[in-house]
Amino acid sequence: MSDVILRLALPSPLRRLFDYRATAAMARQPLTPGMRIRVPFGRREMIGILVEVCATSEVPADKLKPAIALLDPTSPLPPALFKLCLWTAQYYQHSLGDTLSWALPVLLRQGEAAEIRQERFWQVTADARLDDPRIARAPRQREALQTLSQHPHGVAHSLLSKLGLNKDSLDLLLAKQLVQLEVRRQRPATRHEHWLAQPELPLNDEQRAAFEAVRSGFGSFHAFLLAGVTGSGKTEVYLQLIRETLEAGKQALVLIPEINLGPQTLARFEQRFNARIALLHSAVNDRERLDAWLAARDGEADIIIGTRSALFTPMKNPGLIIIDEEHDGSYKQQEGLRYHARDLALVRAHQENVPILLGSATPSLESLHNAHTGRYGLLRMNHRAGGAKQPRFLRLDVRSRPLDSGISGPLQQAIGKTLEAGQQVLVFLNRRGFAPTLLCHDCGWMSGCPRCDARMTVHQRSGVLRCHHCGYDERLPLRCPKCAHVDLRPVGAGTERAEERLKVLFPDFPVLRVDRDSTSRKDAMHNLFTTIQRGQPSILVGTQMLAKGHHFPRVTLVAILDADGGLFSGDFRASERMAQLIVQVAGRAGRAEEPGKVIVQTHLAEHPLLVQLTEEGYFAFAEQALSERRSAGLPPFAHLALLRAEAHKPGQAEGFLDEACSAAERLLAEQGGQGIELLGPVPAPMERRAGRFRAQLLLQASARAPLHRLISAWLLELEQMPSGRQVRWSLDVDPVDLY
Ligand code: ADP
Ligand code: ZN
Ligand code: ZN
Repeated sequence: MSDVILRLALPSPLRRLFDYRATAAMARQPLTPGMRIRVPFGRREMIGILVEVCATSEVPADKLKPAIALLDPTSPLPPALFKLCLWTAQYYQHSLGDTLSWALPVLLRQGEAAEIRQERFWQVTADARLDDPRIARAPRQREALQTLSQHPHGVAHSLLSKLGLNKDSLDLLLAKQLVQLEVRRQRPATRHEHWLAQPELPLNDEQRAAFEAVRSGFGSFHAFLLAGVTGSGKTEVYLQLIRETLEAGKQALVLIPEINLGPQTLARFEQRFNARIALLHSAVNDRERLDAWLAARDGEADIIIGTRSALFTPMKNPGLIIIDEEHDGSYKQQEGLRYHARDLALVRAHQENVPILLGSATPSLESLHNAHTGRYGLLRMNHRAGGAKQPRFLRLDVRSRPLDSGISGPLQQAIGKTLEAGQQVLVFLNRRGFAPTLLCHDCGWMSGCPRCDARMTVHQRSGVLRCHHCGYDERLPLRCPKCAHVDLRPVGAGTERAEERLKVLFPDFPVLRVDRDSTSRKDAMHNLFTTIQRGQPSILVGTQMLAKGHHFPRVTLVAILDADGGLFSGDFRASERMAQLIVQVAGRAGRAEEPGKVIVQTHLAEHPLLVQLTEEGYFAFAEQALSERRSAGLPPFAHLALLRAEAHKPGQAEGFLDEACSAAERLLAEQGGQGIELLGPVPAPMERRAGRFRAQLLLQASARAPLHRLISAWLLELEQMPSGRQVRWSLDVDPVDLY
C-alpha cells in the first residue's frame, strides 16, 4: 500500500470529498484530475472521480480504505469541462460528485470505457468478383455482394438491415471468403471540403448587421443577445455563423429547448451542412449519447446540437455557442442539480474564450437587463425575413359574455369567417384535458386529489380524473362520491373540451388537437403537422406545444382563450411567461402572404401589462415589467435562493426550516451580511403535493457575493441538523419557479 491519497468526488449528496489510499500499482501511474476510480463505499462499490492527489489525509490512517481500481489511463474529461463542473458545483452549492453525475453520460458514470465503441464491419475482400461461379446460382448472395461492394470502407453490422443486407447471405459469402468481417472503431466521417450542402439565403440588412457583429467577436469571449421577432430569420443567422465557425476549423454547440426537438429544427441543420452532427437529447440512448459526447470531445463532430444537458459536452476546438429560444423554461433543471443551462453556457463561453449568442423573439427579462447594462451586445431584428407582416392584436373583453366551452360569441364569429375565407385557425389554451374540475351540482363536492391540494382534471375521452401535479388518477365517477347524486358537471375548459365544442360548432372543418395527451404516440405530432402543412381550412387546438418553432403559413387567426392566469398569479414571473407564450403563439400566424390576427380573450382587458403587450409589443411590455421588478426589488435586480423542504407529516418541513432560519440569522450576524432578507418559512403555494407537506424559505439579496458566502456556510450546518433527516430538502440558487 502506498502513501498516495486520492481525493475523490463520489456520487453522493454530501458536499465533501472522500479520501482513499492508492494501491502501489496505482501510485506508479500518472494520476490526473478527472480519472475514474472504483472504490468501496459502505457495503457497496462506487465510481468516483479524482479531484486531487495528496500526501496526507485528515482521515486516520487505519480508517483510510484502499481504492479498488483505476478505470482510465488518462482523464476522460478534458480540463475545461472539469473546470466547468467545479464552477457549477460551487455556484449551485451542490455536491461535486453529484454534479459530475448529472454532467457526464450515464455510461461513463457506470464505468464504460471512454472510447468510441468498436464495431463489426462487413467488407468485400480484395479478390472477390461478382461473377464468381460459386454464387452464379445464388441471387441473394450476389445482390448482397454487389451492395457491399459499393461501400469500400465496409458496412457497420448495425446498419445491415437499413441497407437491406441479409445476415444469412453474408455468412455464406464469408464462408466463401468473398467478404470479411473486421472489428474496429467506427471510422470517423471524413471532414468535408465544402461545408454547404445547400445554398445560403442572402441575408437582409438586419440579419447582416447581426451576423457581422457576432462574427467580429469570433476568437474570444463576447456575449450577444439576438432579439429578433418570430420569423425574422434568426435561424438563418445561426446557420451562417456556424458555417463561419466550421470554416475556421472549429466546433459549434447549439442548445435548443426540449419542445423544439421536432424533426423540423434538426432537419434545418442537417440539410444545410456536410458536417458531422452530434445529437444529444432525451431521445438518444445511453450508448449513442456516449458516442456523441466522445466524438465531440475528440473533435470528430463539427456541430453539437442538444437540449439542456448538452451544455456539458466537451469540445476539442470550441468556436461558438448558440442558445436558441434563450427564454425557454426547459433550460432550467428542476431537480437534483438545479442549474440553468443558459447561465452556465455564459460561464463556459467565458472559460473557453469563445463568443456566445442567445437568441429569442421574447428574451427573458434577465437577458434584456444584461443587454441594458452592456454585458451583452444587443442585436435587434424587427422585421420578418420573408416579408410577412407582424400579426395584429385584439383584446377581447369577455366580462359578462357567456363563454361556450371557453369560447365567446365574437370569437366564434371570427373563427367562422377565417374558415370561410379558406384559412386556418389556431386556438391556444394552456390546459390539457376536458375540464380542470368536476363539480357536484347538488352538494358542491369537487374532484380534489387525495394526495395534493389541487383539483383533478376531467379527462373525458379516457374516462378518468387525473391529477396533473402527481399523476394520480381514478375512474370518472358516475355519481357524486359524497351525496351519490348524478348531477356531476365539468367546470371550466381544457383543450379536449374546446376541441369537442369546436367540432360541433364547425362540423365542416377538421379540428386537430395538439397536446401531450393527443401526441403521446410517436408519429402523432408529425402526422398532425403534415395535415396542417397541406393547407386546407382547419382548426388547430392546443397547448404550448403549438407555441414553439413551428411554421404554419396558412394560419391567419390565433385565438388565446385565456390570458388571465398570468396576470394575477402569486409567482412574480407569471406575467413574463404569459407574455412570452402569447407572443410565441402569435408568431405562428400569418408567416406567409396573408397577415395574421391575434384575438386575446380576457377579463382584464385594461390591465397595463396586457395593454402594453398587445398594443406596443413584447419589448415595451418587458420594459414595463422590468421597472416593476426594479421597484419591487426582484430579479434581475436582486438575487434569490430558495430552501425547499417536504415531509410526510404536517409541520415537519416548517420545523426544519425554522431551525434553518435561526441558523441563517446567526450566520448573518457573524458575517455582517448586508442586504440579505429571509422571507419565511411559509407553506408552499400548493402545500400538499403527492402526499407530502411542503414549505419554503426564500433568501433575497441585493448582491450575490454575500448571499453565496452565507449559503456555503449555512449548507454545511443544514447537513448536520437532525431535523433535516426527517425531511427532504434542497436549495435552489436562482430559482425560476417559486413553488
Ligand atoms: P426565426 O428563427 O427568427 O423565427 P426563421 O429563421 O425560421 O426565423 O425564418 C423565418 C422564415 O424566413 C423561414 O421560412 C426562412 O426560410 C425565411 N428567411 C430567413 N432569412 C431569409 C432571407 N434572408 N431571405 C428570405 N427568406 C428568409
Ligand atoms: Zn354531491
Ligand atoms: Zn395529486
